[in-house]
Amino acid sequence: MITFDNVNKRYASGQDALVRISLEVPRGDMVFLTGHSGAGKSTLLRLLTAIERPTKGSILVAGQNLNRLRNSQIPYYRRNLGIVFQNHQLLFDRSVFDNIALPLAVAGCSKREVGRRVRAALDKVGLLDKEKHNPITLSGGEQQRVGIARAVVNKPAILVADEPTGNLDPQLSQEIMQLFSDFNAVGVTVLVASHDLELIARMRRRVLTLQAGQLIYDGVPSREAHPV
Ligand code: ADP
Ligand code: ADP
Repeated sequence: MITFDNVNKRYASGQDALVRISLEVPRGDMVFLTGHSGAGKSTLLRLLTAIERPTKGSILVAGQNLNRLRNSQIPYYRRNLGIVFQNHQLLFDRSVFDNIALPLAVAGCSKREVGRRVRAALDKVGLLDKEKHNPITLSGGEQQRVGIARAVVNKPAILVADEPTGNLDPQLSQEIMQLFSDFNAVGVTVLVASHDLELIARMRRRVLTLQAGQLIYDGVPSREAHPV
Protein backbone atom coordinates (compact mmCIF):
# COMPACT_ATOMS: atom_id res chain seq x y z
CA MET A 1 0.00 0.00 0.00
CA ILE A 2 2.85 2.36 0.95
CA THR A 3 6.44 1.95 -0.25
CA PHE A 4 9.35 4.27 0.45
CA ASP A 5 12.40 3.36 -1.62
CA ASN A 6 15.65 5.01 -0.54
CA VAL A 7 13.96 8.29 0.27
CA ASN A 8 15.91 11.37 1.28
CA LYS A 9 14.45 14.69 2.30
CA ARG A 10 16.66 17.75 2.59
CA TYR A 11 14.93 21.03 3.34
CA ALA A 12 15.98 24.25 1.63
CA SER A 13 17.76 25.13 4.90
CA GLY A 14 20.18 22.24 4.23
CA GLN A 15 18.68 20.14 7.04
CA ASP A 16 18.59 16.42 6.18
CA ALA A 17 15.27 15.44 7.72
CA LEU A 18 15.13 11.91 6.26
CA VAL A 19 18.09 9.79 5.13
CA ARG A 20 17.79 6.68 2.93
CA ILE A 21 14.39 5.62 4.21
CA SER A 22 13.11 2.34 2.77
CA LEU A 23 9.96 0.82 4.17
CA GLU A 24 6.82 -0.98 3.18
CA VAL A 25 3.40 -0.87 4.75
CA PRO A 26 1.11 -3.59 3.33
CA ARG A 27 -2.58 -2.91 2.78
CA GLY A 28 -4.50 -3.40 6.00
CA ASP A 29 -1.52 -2.90 8.31
CA MET A 30 -1.48 -0.68 11.38
CA VAL A 31 1.92 0.89 12.06
CA PHE A 32 3.27 3.34 14.61
CA LEU A 33 5.95 5.82 13.69
CA THR A 34 8.02 6.99 16.61
CA GLY A 35 11.21 8.82 17.54
CA HIS A 36 12.29 11.89 19.45
CA SER A 37 11.28 15.40 18.47
CA GLY A 38 13.12 16.32 15.27
CA ALA A 39 13.64 12.68 14.23
CA GLY A 40 11.68 13.17 11.00
CA LYS A 41 8.20 11.80 11.80
CA SER A 42 6.27 14.81 10.52
CA THR A 43 8.48 15.02 7.47
CA LEU A 44 7.71 11.41 6.61
CA LEU A 45 3.97 12.09 6.96
CA ARG A 46 4.29 15.29 4.91
CA LEU A 47 5.89 13.26 2.10
CA LEU A 48 3.11 10.69 2.34
CA THR A 49 0.43 13.38 2.16
CA ALA A 50 2.29 15.10 -0.69
CA ILE A 51 2.71 18.34 1.24
CA GLU A 52 6.44 17.92 0.61
CA ARG A 53 8.33 16.14 -2.15
CA PRO A 54 11.30 13.82 -1.61
CA THR A 55 14.75 15.10 -2.55
CA LYS A 56 15.77 11.61 -3.65
CA GLY A 57 14.15 8.20 -3.89
CA SER A 58 10.60 7.23 -4.70
CA ILE A 59 7.33 6.90 -2.82
CA LEU A 60 4.52 4.64 -3.99
CA VAL A 61 1.08 4.90 -2.42
CA ALA A 62 -1.91 2.83 -3.56
CA GLY A 63 -0.12 2.14 -6.83
CA GLN A 64 0.70 5.79 -7.49
CA ASN A 65 4.25 7.06 -7.76
CA LEU A 66 4.16 10.35 -5.86
CA ASN A 67 7.22 11.63 -7.72
CA ARG A 68 5.14 11.62 -10.91
CA LEU A 69 2.14 13.30 -9.30
CA ARG A 70 1.46 16.70 -10.86
CA ASN A 71 0.38 19.47 -8.47
CA SER A 72 -3.06 19.48 -10.08
CA GLN A 73 -3.47 15.77 -9.20
CA ILE A 74 -2.65 16.18 -5.50
CA PRO A 75 -6.23 16.89 -4.35
CA TYR A 76 -7.40 13.68 -6.05
CA TYR A 77 -4.53 11.72 -4.58
CA ARG A 78 -5.42 12.96 -1.08
CA ARG A 79 -8.90 11.45 -1.34
CA ASN A 80 -7.17 8.14 -0.59
CA LEU A 81 -6.05 9.57 2.74
CA GLY A 82 -7.77 10.51 5.96
CA ILE A 83 -5.55 12.88 7.92
CA VAL A 84 -5.82 13.47 11.68
CA PHE A 85 -3.85 16.29 13.30
CA GLN A 86 -2.77 16.78 16.90
CA ASN A 87 -4.68 20.02 17.25
CA HIS A 88 -7.53 18.53 15.14
CA GLN A 89 -7.94 21.83 13.20
CA LEU A 90 -11.69 22.03 13.71
CA LEU A 91 -13.61 25.14 12.73
CA PHE A 92 -15.29 26.75 15.73
CA ASP A 93 -17.69 28.86 13.67
CA ARG A 94 -19.84 25.86 12.69
CA SER A 95 -21.38 22.70 14.10
CA VAL A 96 -19.81 19.29 14.55
CA PHE A 97 -21.95 18.08 11.63
CA ASP A 98 -20.68 20.81 9.31
CA ASN A 99 -17.06 20.22 10.31
CA ILE A 100 -17.33 16.56 9.36
CA ALA A 101 -19.28 17.33 6.18
CA LEU A 102 -16.50 19.59 4.84
CA PRO A 103 -14.56 16.94 2.88
CA LEU A 104 -17.84 15.70 1.36
CA ALA A 105 -18.88 19.16 0.21
CA VAL A 106 -15.52 19.37 -1.57
CA ALA A 107 -16.17 15.96 -3.18
CA GLY A 108 -19.59 17.14 -4.43
CA CYS A 109 -21.95 14.76 -2.56
CA SER A 110 -25.74 15.19 -2.51
CA LYS A 111 -27.30 16.58 0.69
CA ARG A 112 -28.87 13.24 1.52
CA GLU A 113 -25.62 11.37 0.99
CA VAL A 114 -23.79 13.94 3.15
CA GLY A 115 -26.26 13.40 6.01
CA ARG A 116 -25.96 9.64 5.77
CA ARG A 117 -22.18 9.61 5.66
CA VAL A 118 -21.67 12.22 8.39
CA ARG A 119 -23.92 10.25 10.74
CA ALA A 120 -22.15 6.98 9.87
CA ALA A 121 -18.83 8.65 10.77
CA LEU A 122 -20.25 10.16 13.98
CA ASP A 123 -21.62 6.76 14.94
CA LYS A 124 -18.20 5.14 14.53
CA VAL A 125 -16.55 7.62 16.89
CA GLY A 126 -19.43 7.48 19.37
CA LEU A 127 -20.67 11.06 18.98
CA LEU A 128 -24.04 10.70 17.25
CA ASP A 129 -25.71 12.87 19.89
CA LYS A 130 -23.32 15.81 19.36
CA GLU A 131 -23.91 16.66 15.72
CA LYS A 132 -25.56 20.03 16.45
CA HIS A 133 -22.98 21.12 19.03
CA ASN A 134 -20.29 23.63 18.33
CA PRO A 135 -16.99 21.75 18.73
CA ILE A 136 -15.76 24.44 21.14
CA THR A 137 -18.24 23.07 23.70
CA LEU A 138 -16.74 19.55 23.51
CA SER A 139 -13.93 18.06 25.62
CA GLY A 140 -10.45 17.56 24.15
CA GLY A 141 -11.07 13.86 23.60
CA GLU A 142 -14.42 14.52 21.91
CA GLN A 143 -12.85 17.17 19.69
CA GLN A 144 -10.24 14.66 18.58
CA ARG A 145 -13.04 12.18 17.81
CA VAL A 146 -14.64 14.81 15.59
CA GLY A 147 -11.28 15.21 13.87
CA ILE A 148 -11.18 11.46 13.28
CA ALA A 149 -14.77 11.39 12.02
CA ARG A 150 -13.87 14.11 9.52
CA ALA A 151 -10.82 12.12 8.43
CA VAL A 152 -12.82 8.93 7.77
CA VAL A 153 -16.03 10.41 6.35
CA ASN A 154 -14.73 9.89 2.80
CA LYS A 155 -13.88 6.26 3.62
CA PRO A 156 -10.21 6.64 2.81
CA ALA A 157 -8.08 3.55 2.25
CA ILE A 158 -5.34 5.02 4.44
CA LEU A 159 -5.65 6.83 7.76
CA VAL A 160 -2.69 8.99 8.76
CA ALA A 161 -2.38 10.66 12.17
CA ASP A 162 0.34 13.00 13.44
CA GLU A 163 0.53 12.92 17.27
CA PRO A 164 -3.26 12.46 17.57
CA THR A 165 -3.09 12.06 21.35
CA GLY A 166 -0.55 14.81 22.00
CA ASN A 167 -2.95 16.84 24.15
CA LEU A 168 -4.85 14.00 25.83
CA ASP A 169 -4.44 12.15 29.13
CA PRO A 170 -3.43 8.45 29.07
CA GLN A 171 -6.98 7.10 29.38
CA LEU A 172 -8.34 9.22 26.51
CA SER A 173 -5.20 8.51 24.47
CA GLN A 174 -5.81 4.79 24.81
CA GLU A 175 -9.42 5.26 23.68
CA ILE A 176 -8.34 7.22 20.61
CA MET A 177 -5.77 4.53 19.71
CA GLN A 178 -8.51 1.92 20.10
CA LEU A 179 -10.59 3.87 17.58
CA PHE A 180 -7.72 3.68 15.09
CA SER A 181 -7.53 -0.06 15.77
CA ASP A 182 -11.27 -0.34 15.06
CA PHE A 183 -10.85 1.33 11.66
CA ASN A 184 -7.88 -0.92 10.97
CA ALA A 185 -10.04 -3.94 11.83
CA VAL A 186 -12.39 -3.06 8.95
CA GLY A 187 -9.51 -2.90 6.47
CA VAL A 188 -8.18 0.65 6.69
CA THR A 189 -4.39 0.94 6.54
CA VAL A 190 -3.35 3.06 9.54
CA LEU A 191 -0.15 5.01 10.17
CA VAL A 192 0.13 6.88 13.48
CA ALA A 193 3.07 9.09 14.47
CA SER A 194 3.50 9.35 18.22
CA HIS A 195 6.31 9.84 20.72
CA ASP A 196 4.27 8.15 23.46
CA LEU A 197 6.28 4.92 23.79
CA GLU A 198 4.24 3.54 26.65
CA LEU A 199 1.01 3.90 24.72
CA ILE A 200 2.58 2.39 21.59
CA ALA A 201 3.99 -0.58 23.51
CA ARG A 202 0.54 -1.31 24.87
CA MET A 203 -0.89 -1.56 21.33
CA ARG A 204 1.53 -4.39 20.37
CA ARG A 205 1.74 -3.36 16.74
CA ARG A 206 4.51 -2.84 14.28
CA VAL A 207 6.70 0.12 15.17
CA LEU A 208 9.01 2.16 12.93
CA THR A 209 11.54 4.22 14.89
CA LEU A 210 13.30 7.21 13.38
CA GLN A 211 16.43 8.79 14.82
CA ALA A 212 18.00 11.85 13.22
CA GLY A 213 16.23 11.04 9.95
CA GLN A 214 17.26 7.39 9.84
CA LEU A 215 15.08 4.34 10.29
CA ILE A 216 16.74 2.53 13.20
CA TYR A 217 14.04 0.01 14.12
CA ASP A 218 11.24 -1.80 12.29
CA GLY A 219 9.46 -4.53 14.20
CA VAL A 220 6.98 -5.48 16.87
CA PRO A 221 8.47 -4.69 20.28
CA SER A 222 8.51 -7.69 22.59
CA ARG A 223 6.66 -7.73 25.90
CA GLU A 224 9.98 -8.08 27.71
CA ALA A 225 11.51 -4.98 26.16
CA HIS A 226 8.45 -2.86 26.94
CA PRO A 227 6.78 -4.24 30.06
CA VAL A 228 3.51 -2.45 30.71
P1 ADP B 1 9.52 15.20 14.13
O1 ADP B 1 8.17 15.23 13.53
O2 ADP B 1 10.03 13.82 14.40
O3 ADP B 1 9.64 16.07 15.34
P2 ADP B 1 10.33 16.75 11.81
O4 ADP B 1 10.04 15.94 10.62
O5 ADP B 1 9.39 17.85 12.17
O6 ADP B 1 10.56 15.78 13.05
O7 ADP B 1 11.77 17.40 11.65
C1 ADP B 1 12.92 16.68 11.21
C2 ADP B 1 14.08 17.66 11.04
O8 ADP B 1 13.79 18.54 9.94
C3 ADP B 1 14.32 18.54 12.25
O9 ADP B 1 15.71 18.79 12.34
C4 ADP B 1 13.57 19.79 11.90
O10 ADP B 1 14.14 20.91 12.54
C5 ADP B 1 13.76 19.88 10.40
N1 ADP B 1 12.65 20.55 9.71
C6 ADP B 1 11.34 20.23 9.79
N2 ADP B 1 10.62 21.03 8.98
C7 ADP B 1 11.48 21.84 8.37
C8 ADP B 1 11.35 22.89 7.41
N3 ADP B 1 10.17 23.23 6.90
N4 ADP B 1 12.49 23.52 7.01
C9 ADP B 1 13.68 23.17 7.50
N5 ADP B 1 13.88 22.19 8.41
C10 ADP B 1 12.80 21.53 8.84
P1 ADP C 1 -22.51 2.30 4.20
O1 ADP C 1 -22.08 1.01 3.53
O2 ADP C 1 -23.98 2.44 4.30
O3 ADP C 1 -21.80 3.51 3.67
P2 ADP C 1 -20.88 2.69 6.56
O4 ADP C 1 -20.53 4.06 6.05
O5 ADP C 1 -21.26 2.58 7.99
O6 ADP C 1 -22.10 2.09 5.73
O7 ADP C 1 -19.64 1.71 6.25
C1 ADP C 1 -19.78 0.33 6.00
C2 ADP C 1 -18.61 -0.44 6.61
O8 ADP C 1 -17.38 -0.02 6.05
C3 ADP C 1 -18.50 -0.23 8.11
O9 ADP C 1 -18.33 -1.47 8.73
C4 ADP C 1 -17.27 0.63 8.24
O10 ADP C 1 -16.70 0.47 9.51
C5 ADP C 1 -16.42 0.13 7.10
N1 ADP C 1 -15.31 0.99 6.60
C6 ADP C 1 -14.45 0.60 5.63
N2 ADP C 1 -13.57 1.54 5.37
C7 ADP C 1 -13.83 2.57 6.19
C8 ADP C 1 -13.25 3.86 6.39
N3 ADP C 1 -12.17 4.28 5.73
N4 ADP C 1 -13.80 4.65 7.31
C9 ADP C 1 -14.86 4.24 7.98
N5 ADP C 1 -15.45 3.05 7.84
C10 ADP C 1 -14.95 2.21 6.95
